[in-house]
Amino acid sequence: MDKKTNKLHNLFPDLDFDPEALRAKYRAERDKRLRDDGDDQYVEMAEEFAHYAEEDPYVEPGFVRDPVNEEVDVVIVGGGFSGMMAAARLKERSITDFRMIEAGGDFGGTWYWNRYPGAQCDIESYCYLPLLEELNVMPKEKYSYAPEIFEHSKRIGREFDLYERTYFQTRVTELRWLEDANRWLVSTSRDDAIRARFVIQAAGVANRPKLPGIPGIKDFKGHSFHTCRWDYDYTGGDHTGGLTKLSDKRVAVIGTGATAIQAVPYVGEYAEKLYVFQRTPSSVSDRGNKPTDEEWFDNLQPGWQRERRENFAAVLMGTPVEEDLVADGWTEVSRLIATNLARNAQTGGHEIDFAEMALRAEIADFQKMNSVRARVDETVEDSETAEVLKPWYRMFCKRPTFNDEYLPTFNRPNVELIDVSDAKGVERITENAVVANGVEYEVDCIIYATGFEITSLPRKRVDFDIIGRDGESLFDHWAEGNRTLHGLYSHGFPNWFTIGINQNGLSPNMTSMFDDQAAHIAYIIQEVGKRGKEVAEVTKEAEDAWVTEIKNLQVLGLTFAQECTPGYYNNEGKPSTGGPLGIEVYTPGINAFNALLAKWREAGTLEGFELR
Ligand code: NDP
Repeated sequence: MDKKTNKLHNLFPDLDFDPEALRAKYRAERDKRLRDDGDDQYVEMAEEFAHYAEEDPYVEPGFVRDPVNEEVDVVIVGGGFSGMMAAARLKERSITDFRMIEAGGDFGGTWYWNRYPGAQCDIESYCYLPLLEELNVMPKEKYSYAPEIFEHSKRIGREFDLYERTYFQTRVTELRWLEDANRWLVSTSRDDAIRARFVIQAAGVANRPKLPGIPGIKDFKGHSFHTCRWDYDYTGGDHTGGLTKLSDKRVAVIGTGATAIQAVPYVGEYAEKLYVFQRTPSSVSDRGNKPTDEEWFDNLQPGWQRERRENFAAVLMGTPVEEDLVADGWTEVSRLIATNLARNAQTGGHEIDFAEMALRAEIADFQKMNSVRARVDETVEDSETAEVLKPWYRMFCKRPTFNDEYLPTFNRPNVELIDVSDAKGVERITENAVVANGVEYEVDCIIYATGFEITSLPRKRVDFDIIGRDGESLFDHWAEGNRTLHGLYSHGFPNWFTIGINQNGLSPNMTSMFDDQAAHIAYIIQEVGKRGKEVAEVTKEAEDAWVTEIKNLQVLGLTFAQECTPGYYNNEGKPSTGGPLGIEVYTPGINAFNALLAKWREAGTLEGFELR
């Protein structure tokens, strides 16, 4: 036994698998999927594809209103949870002169647009749904379905008087800083001209659907739609199922990410024939949803939601906590690591260095993913299909999924899994078929479950320009990579704030992250007013320093990202820190980031800002 194997054996005496063999398998599966074109494999949402994204099936057609010409203190771009959080946190600070602009016909953002059957939040609702304590609301289940979440958005809209402040069915077309007036000019698709002292851009991270540039994609003559605009007119039914109009239809679902995992069971139940085209399998752990225990909920103490959110984030980061409050599939790897460390402590323990910690984390990950793969074998009857459904990568290389109906769907006689990993995706689309591995699968309908421009470059992801001081476009300012302080504000873009997932602490619990950013932004806006100033702008020095810090920290996560199978988490397999990236993370994590912001606020100097 060599030294390395010996160490492994000492640390994990009961290990029943060969880590080196798994590492090799993971590498081979990643390499098979790596594409030279990276993120460019996805097509721009050009005019010919516009109907996949622009149409709003949830409003009456023909809405018109007169353009408005007005001035307000703050414009919030977006009426999803991040925009609503911004509004709520402004109101908390008695800043009430704001206007919201929202493309959809109601609040909710992601939860307004995504109404596909089975849509559900994969994060525990007690952590995910914002303002539960403030509004005294108890989610029905541990994991809420989309309609309940959409209802909650509307509730926030009502309770915080946001409806009267919002222009719906309106898209921002440009933000332009008027230097002489110290105002932003907000232009919209309804020809509005709104002048605002501050702008909070909360336009969402999963707002722009993504289509793969599959050859022939424009040629298809059958029906097709993207999951974010589910066409119930075509399928019949609603969120709970009943897709009876599919009973004589051959359907292709392209993509097997978090969305497909939730929708496929419903399509499989109703379609005459369903082909699921899979490039990379998702990890599918059990969901185990359950109704909320009312007694438990009633006895939660004030501050419980923040505590729970922070606990969840801490467990995910591997920070020791007394109790894993959420204790679900998300935190399982952390629990495995903790158990393993406890064993070390019980047996006398020894000092654990970084390399050993990384090894322990990797072994826990292998254990978790082995159980995910074992679950496939236990559930899927056909062994060849089961083999194809097994994910070979570390759990957090892709967004993990949790579902109890997806895998059994492949036991249905009308459902076929088509593995397109060797060809790096679907080969071609013709007038009436999807072609994969040289075989033509004739279908009546293609459902694209191909995701969103979540981490692609802002120019591709944001559909309006932001013109700052000196006429500079934000996209040019960020041409070589994002340039911000705290991920929230940029030099040359005075009084402009953005809520999102760039250069700040990241959490899979998006709403909690956005809420903290919103509260921080509201603080700054209030402070500028308190100081009797008009304009707050980040200095170049502060921006440079933050970008450098982010890049230095980023290196820590680089090896992990490089070893991952391609996807939007790792810039489609090109996670280099050399070129511009659509997303960079503050690697110490969301709790550390929030602590940093709290300290910054406590100092009370708005450090890094120049006020005038
Ligand atoms: P994803 O980006 O996760 O998945 C897209 C899928 O399309 C992948 O399986 C991808 O394969 C596949 N694909 C892309 N191009 C091709 C091609 N040419 N041929 C075949 N397959 C292709 O999108 P989702 O909509 O599933 O999820 C996006 C995100 O939305 C999630 O990660 C999550 O953040 C969020 N979400 C959250 C939910 C929640 O519960 N909170 C629920 C649903 C979504 P490959 O993996 O190989 O690239």
